[in-house]
Amino acid sequence: MKKANLTSDSLFKNKYALHFLEIYRPLWALGHAGSLLSWDSETYMPSSGVEQRAVALSELKILERKLFLDKHFLQTIQKLKNQKRLNVFEKGLSRVVLRSLKIYQKVPEKVLKEFTKITEEAKPVWRNARANNDFKIFMPYLEKIFNFSREIADYLEYEKHPYDALLDLYEEETTVADFDRLFKKIIPVSKKILEKNRTIDDKIEALENKKYEKQKLEKINLEILSMLGFDNSRMRLDISTHPFTQEISLNDIRITTRYEGKNFKSTIFYCIHEFWHALYEIQIDPGLEFTPLASGVSYGVHESQSRFWENIVGRSRVFCELIYPLLAKELNFIREYTSEEIYNYFNLVKPGFIRVNADEVTYNLHIFLRYEIEKSILEEKISIKEIPAVWESKMQELLGLIPPSDTLGCLQDIHWSSGYIGYFPSYSLGTILAAQLKYAIEKDFNLDEAISSKNFEKIRSWLKEKIHSKGAVYPPKKLIRLSLKEKITSDYFENYLKKKYLVYKI
Ligand code: MG
Repeated sequence: MKKANLTSDSLFKNKYALHFLEIYRPLWALGHAGSLLSWDSETYMPSSGVEQRAVALSELKILERKLFLDKHFLQTIQKLKNQKRLNVFEKGLSRVVLRSLKIYQKVPEKVLKEFTKITEEAKPVWRNARANNDFKIFMPYLEKIFNFSREIADYLEYEKHPYDALLDLYEEETTVADFDRLFKKIIPVSKKILEKNRTIDDKIEALENKKYEKQKLEKINLEILSMLGFDNSRMRLDISTHPFTQEISLNDIRITTRYEGKNFKSTIFYCIHEFWHALYEIQIDPGLEFTPLASGVSYGVHESQSRFWENIVGRSRVFCELIYPLLAKELNFIREYTSEEIYNYFNLVKPGFIRVNADEVTYNLHIFLRYEIEKSILEEKISIKEIPAVWESKMQELLGLIPPSDTLGCLQDIHWSSGYIGYFPSYSLGTILAAQLKYAIEKDFNLDEAISSKNFEKIRSWLKEKIHSKGAVYPPKKLIRLSLKEKITSDYFENYLKKKYLVYKI
């Protein structure tokens, strides 16, 4: 059996830290088992196994809570926290564990249990509501989910806004004030680009409907991934309804894609996106394995990695040129297009109803809409039953579209039915941070040159040193400040968009 890295060269020296890591092992193992069960549910489990799997996962959660609230466990982490001289890893350890404990300690067990129960019940109702375009049947569940979320926010406490307490669950120390500031800058730029990109070339748009054979795209995806550095001994690629990444351990990361049979760029970008979520985990310092620090630091920083590779690298002109011969070899219809036209297809800006299909310009408009609605509900400015109407008017204001149904509107995402209030804004933070990374990298070397010469190792190493290796040691804002020598800012994303879509017009 592999032992925890608790030898003399361990990153952790303090006796309480070392003792803590010993007693943390069963919790690590529970997480390991739960991750594998979740991955299996989405990939290979026969469909009838769903009920028992849900029971197994919820029992593991109960066990996890018990271990977290064990008296000796709590005393040890408290002793560690009170130590005067801790190194950065030990400080990170106490910070991350106390954050996980906060929800168990501050929110009464009864409230958490009822919240879990209502989200479990809400998910099938939401699926049904979405399939039948019937917001009314989902409404009472959503009402309870928002009420519980508000109650949980009150228990967790906040200084200015109840939403702050919920946002912090996904993006540590990031508040309404932060997101208001970021959106205020990026929304006008996105809207301006949309206005300028009204005319869409029919020939380019036609690529969205070109059919492909699954085997051809599987081959393309594997070649692209292997070029980017896919490690077969530590990663798997499978198929699932919704592409995702599941970390099992630092040496076992699973990613998925899907094949829709047309609009071939989607499956390629799902692969690239998820691969870089995986790479973040794989490049974490192995000395952090078996500890709570062996994970990406936040949803936003994680998303910045996948967005960096999907948008900044994958949608760049040099990357298009690089993969064009491969595309042309496998897909006959590509031969009617130049590499420049494929670049335009990869970067087509087109308002649509569905967030997950949105391009890099309109994507944040979709997030802003959800952010505004969540915030307004928590402020009690709008009620749950007003969501469809507010959605419509905001969609028209931001994207110039009115969804023909709630299925294509406020019922499209799974997040609310799962109780993930405060999750969406971290997607925008990731997009913004991805552009900031691009500019930071370009201070050190020529990114385009690294891409065109297939020197992806150079980019991987840079990200490993600055972001990945550190796991969750530092809180996200501090990590960015330490690694990029500046705060998180939307300036770079604005410049990136302006340069790509306004100054240099396609
Ligand atoms: Mg992602």
